[in-house]
Amino acid sequence: MGEAKRKRQFGLCRCGSLRAGGECCFRNGSWFKPPSTVDLIATGFSGSHPRCYLRHLNTCSDKVSREHTISAVVLRAMGSASLRVGGASWLADGEERAMGISGMVANCLCIAHKGALASLDAAGGQFYESLQQLSGLKKPTPSLLSGHDIERWMLKTAVALAASGQLCAVGQERLPGTFADGIDLAALLQVSIGVLIPTSGLRCRCATIPDFRPGRSRAGRKIRFRQRV
Ligand SMILES: [Zn+2]
Ligand SMILES: [Zn+2]
Repeated sequence: MGEAKRKRQFGLCRCGSLRAGGECCFRNGSWFKPPSTVDLIATGFSGSHPRCYLRHLNTCSDKVSREHTISAVVLRAMGSASLRVGGASWLADGEERAMGISGMVANCLCIAHKGALASLDAAGGQFYESLQQLSGLKKPTPSLLSGHDIERWMLKTAVALAASGQLCAVGQERLPGTFADGIDLAALLQVSIGVLIPTSGLRCRCATIPDFRPGRSRAGRKIRFRQRV
């Protein structure tokens, strides 16, 4: 099939790559978005930055980044004008505070490792933008994401919040910011080129369904998550 025909048949790919679907994620009769390649080892640097939570890999750059604990692209999708933070270790119990996106950063990741994980930030942003579309009035456009990327973005967010000391238990007891022994965060976050990922993980299917609230008949929208193993 020629390029022009593939573009006519599938349009632009649902993954947001701006390539034709038939040349990107529509293969062998179905849609599949491969997980992003994340390589935390081949950064081109050697060294261990004391503030970086991946310092044990000894592939840090010498400068630490102002890492957004929750990806900036996700915060923008959530609505930068109305962000309020609660539950953090630096707030009193029950207190909420308005925050700008630029203030939600921590020095917990070196620049090299921040760059290596950037594709997961992008996946998180696309995920939230898709959720925002569902709650809007416009007909949502199909969006294709890798479940493995979304899971890794969630893990990355949890690690950043923990490493920056912002997580606390009930009663504002600050949590230590470390994960249990035996959890290899780097192995969970990275996918090397050529490594086959089994088709397991979080899947999200969205469909327009009737709204079940009493007295309402307008269409509502439903998100269905399922774990496939
Ligand atoms: Zn694609
Ligand atoms: Zn690092």
